Amino acid sequence: GVEDIPPWNLTAAHLLDGLLTPEFSHRSCRSRYEFAHYYKKSPHKPSPYLIAKLRKQEALQRRCGPGTAAHEKALRRLESSGGDDDLDGNDGDDCRYLVYISYRGLSNRMLAIASAFLYAVLTDRVLLVDGGKDVADLFCEPFPGATWLLPPPSSAGGWWWSSWWSPSSSSSPLNRLQSFDQDSKESLGNMLQSGATVSDETGNVTWSSEEKNTPPAYVYLHLAGGYGYHDKLFFCGAHQRLLLRDVPWLLMRTDNYIVPGLFLIPTFRAELEAMFPDKDAVFYLLGRYLFHPSNAVWHAVTAYHRAHLAGAADRVVGVQIRVFHKKQPRQLVLDQALSCLRNEKLIIPAETETINIAGNATSSPSSSSKKKKNKVVVLVTSLSSWYSERMREELGSEVRQPSHEGRQRWRDAAHDRRALSEMLLLGTCDALVTSGFSTFGYVAQGLAGLRPWVMHRSPMWAHDWREDGLGPDEPPCRRVASVEPCFHSPSAYDCDAGRDVELDGAAPYVRRCVDVSWGIKLV
Ligand code: GDP
Repeated sequence: GVEDIPPWNLTAAHLLDGLLTPEFSHRSCRSRYEFAHYYKKSPHKPSPYLIAKLRKQEALQRRCGPGTAAHEKALRRLESSGGDDDLDGNDGDDCRYLVYISYRGLSNRMLAIASAFLYAVLTDRVLLVDGGKDVADLFCEPFPGATWLLPPPSSAGGWWWSSWWSPSSSSSPLNRLQSFDQDSKESLGNMLQSGATVSDETGNVTWSSEEKNTPPAYVYLHLAGGYGYHDKLFFCGAHQRLLLRDVPWLLMRTDNYIVPGLFLIPTFRAELEAMFPDKDAVFYLLGRYLFHPSNAVWHAVTAYHRAHLAGAADRVVGVQIRVFHKKQPRQLVLDQALSCLRNEKLIIPAETETINIAGNATSSPSSSSKKKKNKVVVLVTSLSSWYSERMREELGSEVRQPSHEGRQRWRDAAHDRRALSEMLLLGTCDALVTSGFSTFGYVAQGLAGLRPWVMHRSPMWAHDWREDGLGPDEPPCRRVASVEPCFHSPSAYDCDAGRDVELDGAAPYVRRCVDVSWGIKLV
């Protein structure tokens, strides 16, 4: 039972084979060491090289994070940018930062934070996460002896009164992160067009002399869906070299899992391949490293699990229903989920058949002990309760749904706590059916290392839902190739070739996603 595990007596399993440091106390973040107890053991172990990189990053976050002299100095440089340059002179030992700008729903944010973290590790930058109270409410700090939270604006200068006391701090870009968008003159895309950089005939890009050869104090990276040609040049080796050394602050806005795109940048490929011998376990390892639910969230997860899932059935099947548009006919969505469960033999009437977890069904005598053994509980997550109610009627089996929030809400801590709890509960299931296109499902499958069956879905901006349902040859769901999330808006531009290329197979481990045809994922 759960109570039996002594987390204070840490084993390799508690620490995910060296992924986690033992430097945190158990009480401060119970999920950190209890997580492994609720989830299937994954064959994917962190490589020694990845572990070494993580320990190095932890030391960097400690040396340069908020509250350190190095951070104060970097803030002053940022605030004086555009005014007197080189406040303290540049001693070459400065810390450099990557600020993640909070954007979109919780799972979009988790995919983006994992991506930003990996980019920070690759470029020796300190990751600071904007998102204030919400992130602190949902997750434990991942780095020992340091905070990954960007200090709130009022204390950005180190003192709560600095915003009015010091006229410069109010001009700090950190105080207006949400104002950055594709039109910002500080974006990489716009700087490349405004003469702030020059490129020579070999394709080398440098800061132009008009900028007095001094690189800017910060650059805004606009990597949100629908971004344009110049912002996509982020995924070029030449532009990575431009950003690599000299720009102290990078501000990143993305709602995407850009990691497959990082693997396609020549500058990073060898390093990433060394860190991740198993390309299909990148989010699993990064997610398990970064996202430890806070005690409040973890309590909700474990209490629900104990009350409704543990020991309740021979097997629990998770079904994540995400509808992006209210015009999407809900009967079609329901039919699709039911067909998927039946076709893939994820749920079969207990009297006639037994099921093993691989999804193979065999006939069996209908003895009462067998019946009990075959009991399946379906765990549904959805904003609406309609689907689980219909499923209960249709399947005649136990169907559970932890919450039905009605609609998506913004800046609502309790709402986000429930969303995170449900992603985590889905991950404890024996089998998982997800809604295509939804990052909510990606996080559930990724953290659990569970390869789901994904139901094809129309994106929220499509208005051509077929009233007659799926085509005759189209299965209601397909098993995805790996547990990795899909990168929805990759750049197809090959910087060396100077043209767009086919991304499917661009590296041996890069494939198109089954649910988003223009997206790519690691397999
Ligand atoms: P995506 O839009 O499906 O890619 O996922 P996001 O997490 O980025 O945004 C959807 C948001 O809607 C979630 O963060 C939740 O706030 C809410 N939401 C969507 N589906 C569910 C669900 O099944 N359960 C709960 N509790 N919230 C949900």
